[in-house]
Amino acid sequence: MSERVLVIGSGGREHALAWKFAQSPHVQQVLVAPGNAGTANCGKISNSEVSVNNHSILAQYCKDHKVGLVVVGPEVPLAAGMVDDLTAAGVLCFGPSARAAQLEASKSFSKAFMDRHNIPTARWSSFTDPQQACAYIRDADFPALVVKASGLAAGKGVIVAQDKDEACQAVLDIMKDKAFGSAGETVVVEELLDGQEVSCLCFSDGVTVAPMPPAQDHKRLLDGDMGPNTGGMGAYCPTPQVSDELLQEISRSVLQKTVDGMREEGAPYVGVLYAGLMLTAQGPRVLEFNCRFGDPECQVLLPLLQSDLYEVCMQTLRCELDSASVQWLQDCAAVTVVMASGGYPNAYRKGLEISGLSQASEMGVQVFHAGTALKEGGGVITSGGRVLTVTAVRPTLESALQSANEGVGAISFPDAVYRRDIGHRAITYLTHTRGLTYKD
Ligand code: AMP
Repeated sequence: MSERVLVIGSGGREHALAWKFAQSPHVQQVLVAPGNAGTANCGKISNSEVSVNNHSILAQYCKDHKVGLVVVGPEVPLAAGMVDDLTAAGVLCFGPSARAAQLEASKSFSKAFMDRHNIPTARWSSFTDPQQACAYIRDADFPALVVKASGLAAGKGVIVAQDKDEACQAVLDIMKDKAFGSAGETVVVEELLDGQEVSCLCFSDGVTVAPMPPAQDHKRLLDGDMGPNTGGMGAYCPTPQVSDELLQEISRSVLQKTVDGMREEGAPYVGVLYAGLMLTAQGPRVLEFNCRFGDPECQVLLPLLQSDLYEVCMQTLRCELDSASVQWLQDCAAVTVVMASGGYPNAYRKGLEISGLSQASEMGVQVFHAGTALKEGGGVITSGGRVLTVTAVRPTLESALQSANEGVGAISFPDAVYRRDIGHRAITYLTHTRGLTYKD
């Protein structure tokens, strides 16, 4: 039977999800709510105006429009119980329940969970009282600390402090000045870890995990990892710094343990589980869990997924996930480069005309839209901070980076900002270890 799939969200991640679902012979139509200009009218893909905040209206819409599968992109609706409410209304929905999404929505929950299940993470403590938090900071035997708002803060609620004074100031900013609103009612204070960050994701049906190839995001705005933190300026996959053996260890000691632990605690984890890890000299340590695909990691993972995403989601929902049947393209690399509005991550202009989109597509790269909108009378304009991502899949990381950069070069809008060095850590690593290609 040919199905209608509804993707919730409006970023590059959701465009990539819709693009991948549209390739499935099982899928007749992909709706995206609210979507962006890239998902507006593109083959099987179109946007839906249904309200996504009211779960009963959404459930009724799915029934009226015979939506066979809902897939939730971002974390906020997951934490708000969208999967629980749609499932209760008889609508098939992919993603974790609100209880399982606590792994991302509450850092104090996820840190305590990791301690309960012996999952490696930074030493930590959580507080609801700023004075106690500062007393802990003063007494801590680790010199540098990270202070985090426990709740969801759109990726902004983490302050990496250079010393104890800065850490205490961060506590006051979060708890007294409410820099991140109610997300900062509880703070987590933890030791600063040193190493490279990697993203290891898997599909989970609550029992079995199917690991994805490792990816690396680039959070800083500018080349050389300079400038402010952002939602992510680019990603690549696979990450050669994570060997097959290390990935197996991470799958066993982090991903499988987490899924087993959540099931044992009565909140089976079904969906995509994302572990953000620091590769320290003592081994991998979990920095955070996310309860969905990362953005921009999704834009490099899905182009490398050989299997049918619809089939993988259905296997997951039926609790029939078989990790061997989730296949990934071998002997190639994917790079995605984000084009952002000038001024991002702070204030930026919107409504600027974007040109060169079809020229880029003709170059064999995939352009995933994020903050874009259709212009009245034709054309595409900017409407957000991260505007679009350009993904290339090529036999080597270097050629993928070159192609993605060429695709970016074909697209223009006023004051566009992007990095040219996505994957630089892998290129350095390969140069120092195994030559310049993945195949060596
Ligand atoms: P989180 O949302 O907890 O992953 O934190 C966001 C970012 O802050 C991470 O991607 C890291 O770059 C940094 N970070 C978080 N926790 C630590 C830590 N314990 N040590 C070093 N950096 C950290």
